[in-house]
Amino acid sequence: VKEELLRPVRGMSDVPPSRARRLRQVEDAAIAAMRRFGYREIRTPILEKTALFARPLGEHSDLVEKEMFTFNSNNDDDGDDGKGGEKVSLRPEATVSVARALLAQGIGRGGVARMFYAGAMFRRERPQRGRYRQFHQFGAEVVGSGDAEADAELITMCRDLWRDLQIGDALDLQINNLGEAAERARHREKLADYFRRYADDLDADSRRRIDKNPLRILDSKEPRTKEIAANAPRLADELGADSRRFVDEVRAKLAAAGIAAKENPALVRGLDYYNLTVFEWTRKNDARAQNAVCGGGRYDGLTAQIGGGDKKIPACGFAAGIERVAELIAEEHGGDEMDAPDVYLVVGAEGGDKDEKIARHAAVVADALRAAGLDVFRNLDGGNISRQLHRASIKRVKIAIIVGEDEAAQNAATIKFMGEKAPPDSRQIRAPLADLAAAARKMI
Ligand code: AMP
Repeated sequence: VKEELLRPVRGMSDVPPSRARRLRQVEDAAIAAMRRFGYREIRTPILEKTALFARPLGEHSDLVEKEMFTFNSNNDDDGDDGKGGEKVSLRPEATVSVARALLAQGIGRGGVARMFYAGAMFRRERPQRGRYRQFHQFGAEVVGSGDAEADAELITMCRDLWRDLQIGDALDLQINNLGEAAERARHREKLADYFRRYADDLDADSRRRIDKNPLRILDSKEPRTKEIAANAPRLADELGADSRRFVDEVRAKLAAAGIAAKENPALVRGLDYYNLTVFEWTRKNDARAQNAVCGGGRYDGLTAQIGGGDKKIPACGFAAGIERVAELIAEEHGGDEMDAPDVYLVVGAEGGDKDEKIARHAAVVADALRAAGLDVFRNLDGGNISRQLHRASIKRVKIAIIVGEDEAAQNAATIKFMGEKAPPDSRQIRAPLADLAAAARKMI
């Protein structure tokens, strides 16, 4: 029973420092790239009213029907014993929340808002490689612009980030045109009519989807259904001139920026709020189901869907999976490395009164090193100097700094190089406190 308690909840994981460091590198690089384009951070609650998600994400989508972590938020003071209150859900994505927050604050009405976020999202999916129930995304939203320049900017920003992270060559960009709601509705009807004619040949799941969600039939893996789906009416044939012109303009801007985008008519994205441009960055040469690293598109209808009035506020955005980006980096450039501090501070123990003096000197040394920007891990495990040096080598630090009786008396410290590639005469030197940080830096 106890061991069971030690394990995290299904689909969620403890992240050790070596991997956490990689995730933070991704997040930091993403934030830096987004800030370069003038995006600023917005933070929204992790818990939202369940009702907020139903319309924009699609009432019949898997996400809304069964993948949200939902519970009742009752007010403890109302004395109704846990009943009442309202249904709330852990956010499965952040675009809806960002749009809600901007509407609530009246931002985006006055002019274009560029926002980014990073944080945990929750979906009760079947966990597998690259798919977790708690995962992390960073993303950006441009709210208040219906200009194709905005779509192109978001994609360019992603391209720059992949370049910064040195994974540009490992990713493909796919793009599609979802048209407007009316065009999709017409296509849906035609699809339903078409599949109805073949109802007897479809697998049972697909047959049930004819009325509710005929688009999903296009994803079926059943051979006969796939055959039928191959000749189904295409959305592209329903698109009017305005819709075509818009996404063509996005494509032209991407081409001008030297960004190659593959046309993928099957790219529909899971969320209901999209229109016109949709795109996805996927891993090259990777047929796995979870090969998407980043996805986004335009969502001009979203603000109206969540109660922002009839006036459409044009907007677009993307979200990327931090774990998936980190996994890709690890595969392209080697796995996790130990996240060692710069310095392991070895503190001599002579016994008796001397130790107090040595410890005080160790604190002064640590202060000086930290003030110079070095990470200092002070030994707390006791033991003699050689035991402490052994621990330092296990931690993979590049240098150990030793403070003992002599060092305390001389107001100095001994620097010992712990790596492999130091010239023999500089493996161990003693430096006065004033020069210590500079000498340590040189060795690192
Ligand atoms: P979406 O919000 O579904 O468009 O997803 C955007 C990105 O988030 C995907 O391309 C993935 O990189 C990542 N992602 C989505 N769902 C999961 C999940 N369950 N586990 C890990 N990453 C995910």
